[in-house]
Amino acid sequence: MSTRKPPLLQVGSGARESGRPSGGAGVERTRLIPASTRADMVVPRCAASSRNRCITVSSILRVVFIWKTISAILQYVNLWAVLSRTDNLFRPDRSLFKIWPAAWRGGRALAFAAGIAVAVGVDADDPEPAKYVFSAVDAPTNAAPASLGGYAAGCLAGAVRLAETGPAWQAMRLSRNRNWGHPEMIAFIERLSRAGQAAGWPGLYVGDISHPRGGPMVSSHRSHQIGLDADIWLRPPGSLKLSVAEREKISSPSMVAANRLTVNGNWTGVHSEILEAAARDGAVARIFVNAAIKRRLCKDGGEDDSEWLRKVRPWWGHDSHFHVRLHCPEAGACIDQEAPPEGDGCDAELDWWFTDEALYPPPRDPEDIPPELMLADLPAACQAVLEAE
Ligand SMILES: [Zn+2]
Repeated sequence: MSTRKPPLLQVGSGARESGRPSGGAGVERTRLIPASTRADMVVPRCAASSRNRCITVSSILRVVFIWKTISAILQYVNLWAVLSRTDNLFRPDRSLFKIWPAAWRGGRALAFAAGIAVAVGVDADDPEPAKYVFSAVDAPTNAAPASLGGYAAGCLAGAVRLAETGPAWQAMRLSRNRNWGHPEMIAFIERLSRAGQAAGWPGLYVGDISHPRGGPMVSSHRSHQIGLDADIWLRPPGSLKLSVAEREKISSPSMVAANRLTVNGNWTGVHSEILEAAARDGAVARIFVNAAIKRRLCKDGGEDDSEWLRKVRPWWGHDSHFHVRLHCPEAGACIDQEAPPEGDGCDAELDWWFTDEALYPPPRDPEDIPPELMLADLPAACQAVLEAE
């Protein structure tokens, strides 16, 4: 078995479709942890927040630190003043602040105010990572639809909301407010839900698409920023009448065996059908699945299947959902990804995913973790998207 490493594929955004499980990937911040844990991971940061800023524990601590430091300096100055006056040396009750209690109270109040001023000033120079800004906006812009930037560094104007329940789909985890996409993505989901029904897959459970204005997310993904990525659960839909609460509670089980080499007993022939239907859609650029799932599709596929199998790309995680990425619908500000390599991808390139290097990667060096995306890292047009009505 060859262990050739798959080539790194440059993506327009600068992200890559290869590398390590949690970063630089332009696909998703996947983690080799149970899917049920990963799906619900949320990382709160602000104790309280407004649109652009949040009050953090560190800013509160800064106020206290500066307050206490200045108070200590005042105490020291007072002591020095007392000791330097020989007539008061043995009469500490005659200290300056005992004589003028108002001065002491005023000094402490000034110190507290200085602490707040410095803390707020530091925060002003320390802008929020873009993920907090975009996740705080709950409505789309009224502009014409446009995906701006790359899949892993961009935003979305004129987003359309995927209906919570359609004829053959349900949007899951509605509390996340991530069921917004480019109209082409919404149309694709409608198309795939019908194609799925024809193939014996009764409906789609649709996971995250994008925020109402796209942009980075506080949890789960590095891509999904321009309304052209969507996660679709591999859990066959038992009901298309789930309540809002049920959609928060249920999750999608893994389709991959514990040794990560093959699919498990949850996999059915109909899973292959829905993935093939998705990959054959002309709007689709790529579909990411766990390597064990790709291997199964390769095993079942025939000679004439290379074109759709080519789009199905192995990636870490993706064992309980598949991730569909569409081509840029319009030329211009949307940065498309290079096409996948020629061929069905069922060769030595796939074999690498079953080596120890890929299955059990060592912990990531903290220095290799890319810094948080700031607004300045996104296309300039994203500032206008944030500010638009
Ligand atoms: Zn995804």
